[in-house]
Amino acid sequence: MMCQEMSELMTDDMEGSLGGARKASFDRHLAACAPCKAYRHQLETTVATLRRLPPEEASAEARARAFAALRTWKRDLM
Ligand SMILES: [Zn+2]
Repeated sequence: MMCQEMSELMTDDMEGSLGGARKASFDRHLAACAPCKAYRHQLETTVATLRRLPPEEASAEARARAFAALRTWKRDLM
């Protein structure tokens, strides 16, 4: 599995919707790949922050920043 594919599956995994061989392959890559581990950590931190904020502060802008970080990460991999 490639890092780019990992980035597409990362949110699925966090939602628990990844299963079977795909999940096994995902976990193997995550255990061995430092950039993906760092990204996973960043994503978990972002999600936790958004969940702690009241809805009016977990604004479209905060989400936009989270997705901007994701785009930067993907660009750095390519
Ligand atoms: Zn990777």
